[in-house]
Amino acid sequence: MFTLPALDFENTALEPFMSAQTLDFHYGKHFKTYVDNLNKLIAATKFETMTLEEIIVQTAGKPEFVSIFNNAAQAFNHGFFFARLAKDGNTKPDGALLKKIETTFGSYENFKAEFKAAALSQFGSGWAWLAEDKASNLSVMKTSNADTPLAHGLKPLMTVDVWEHAYYLDYQNRRADFVDACLEHLINWK
Ligand code: MN
Repeated sequence: MFTLPALDFENTALEPFMSAQTLDFHYGKHFKTYVDNLNKLIAATKFETMTLEEIIVQTAGKPEFVSIFNNAAQAFNHGFFFARLAKDGNTKPDGALLKKIETTFGSYENFKAEFKAAALSQFGSGWAWLAEDKASNLSVMKTSNADTPLAHGLKPLMTVDVWEHAYYLDYQNRRADFVDACLEHLINWK
């Protein structure tokens, strides 16, 4: 049984960049539904005792397990996203990660531009990511719907949810403004 991970902040803590209403719907309803659906789907199956990561790897690309994959991946993606939010916390990486970003992308500003371009060019629902491969190379990527770097052998380092449910109440159709708010005020690099 998976449980909804608790938020370590109040639902008003991210205002005005992410409203309490958005958190109540996005965390309290959308995220919770993925966790609840996953628990129903894996009950009395071999997946019941696995971690989210194991379920994702074992169901990725298998049509017979598409519902389990979608709910497990969304449970993972949302847990990863919500665990790395804070209003004006560590809004920029530091140390070795910052150096690696600067080496890979030319500068932190270039990284943000590339990340934003990925987030805005994701057609329809999905996610933008900073990910790392097994050789420790960084890349910016976008994934559709529930898809996640874990399904491609990559380790996620940072993400922004670009499903409309992540921003529509606060930003309506202005995905770019939401992504800017995430990059400048909400993502907590820790
Ligand atoms: Mn979402």
